[in-house]
Amino acid sequence: MTVNKNSRPPRFKLFQAPAAIAIQKMNKTGNYRGSPRDRGYDAKWDRLSIAFRKRHPCCLWCEQIDRDTLTDLVDHIIPVVDRPDLKHTWSNLMALCRHHHAQKGVMEVYARENGLLGMLPEWCRDPEKRPFQFRPVA
Ligand SMILES: [Zn+2]
Repeated sequence: MTVNKNSRPPRFKLFQAPAAIAIQKMNKTGNYRGSPRDRGYDAKWDRLSIAFRKRHPCCLWCEQIDRDTLTDLVDHIIPVVDRPDLKHTWSNLMALCRHHHAQKGVMEVYARENGLLGMLPEWCRDPEKRPFQFRPVA
């Protein structure tokens, strides 16, 4: 094989790529969480998530403020890390956009730190019941 000295060599051998990328991400952010597969999102979850997005194509929190935004992902209302038994429970799911998923993540931390994880379902469904700092800005 001739190598053009102006062309850049491949950065990783193909079989090394996933691990190499993971290490790169970890070095960059210091908190790479692992691939979705590593985090336990399996084929059963894929099917459930797709079915859920078909039923709920729009972000729930955007709908609550009269916006139509396509959903980016399916969120566990009570996080899997806290309630792994609810991982595949339809009523523990909601469709969110990326923006609202980030907000929900902050609300989860707040709920966990204050022993209020059980409030998450109510807070997620009714913006008026959320702690003040998590209510939508009018
Ligand atoms: Zn949204």
